[in-house]
Amino acid sequence: MKGIVENKVVLVTGASRGIGKAIATLFAESGAQVAFTYLSSVEKGQALEKELSSYGIKAKGYRSDASNYQESEDLVNSVLEDFGSIDILINNAGITRDGLLMRMSEEQWDEVMRVNLKSVFNLTKAATKPMMKAKSGSIINLTSIVGIKGNAGQANYAASKAGIIGFTKSVALELGSRNIRCNAIAPGFIETEMTGELNEATVEEWKKSIPLRRGGDPSEVAKVCLFLASDLSSYVTGQTIQVDGGLLT
Ligand code: NAP
Repeated sequence: MKGIVENKVVLVTGASRGIGKAIATLFAESGAQVAFTYLSSVEKGQALEKELSSYGIKAKGYRSDASNYQESEDLVNSVLEDFGSIDILINNAGITRDGLLMRMSEEQWDEVMRVNLKSVFNLTKAATKPMMKAKSGSIINLTSIVGIKGNAGQANYAASKAGIIGFTKSVALELGSRNIRCNAIAPGFIETEMTGELNEATVEEWKKSIPLRRGGDPSEVAKVCLFLASDLSSYVTGQTIQVDGGLLT
């Protein structure tokens, strides 16, 4: 895949593990310069910086809370100082705090909205400034099929992910004339620590209902990111691409 994002600067939030890590790795393999963030997984974040650098590209990890407005502004400024530009922003950081509505606390609601949705606003707002100057950019937001379909026990998560889709379309409408594209990816069931929390019986039941009969690998989401980040998708904006093995069809 070398060439399509070579020397482009990508900023990926929440890359210490799971889908974010797979994205950072594929972009490094593809010759991009990779700035990424982590929050609680400090050791994993530091190890990833070394791992990515072994591809012969510039890579740097930043400990930064995507849900914090000021930290996100500071992060973008640090990345600009260190890398000179931000060509691609991938808003991947996300959490779940599941529970039925009857038992969901205000804290569970607020935390998920802050980390999943406000973070996308924070980073997009900060990163579009340099993108507007450069008259070019690609923003990719990780939503979920749950944001399209809803899911019992995930009212907070589903609302945050549906919010991301509305945000993505609005940004695409506002910034298309500046040559900045904004798209979303809606994964289905991807095997990471996030889905590792689910009980085995539920997972097996889900797999039976997936047309491709298996969960997805994080690298399969990363490949769609690479497409949306690069000129392979130069006429695609405002879209939500499902990466779900056909689950929501
Ligand atoms: P994961 O394995 O739980 O990893 C989440 C990542 O987000 C970690 O690197 C974590 O960093 C980071 N993070 C959490 N809160 C953060 C914050 N406030 N600031 C910065 N980073 C933060 O999750 P995943 O399964 O890879 O999911 C990645 C994205 O895909 C999420 O947005 C998720 O909603 C979405 N998604 C996943 C699936 C799936 O099946 N896995 C399906 C649909 C959508 P630390 O560990 O360092 O805190």
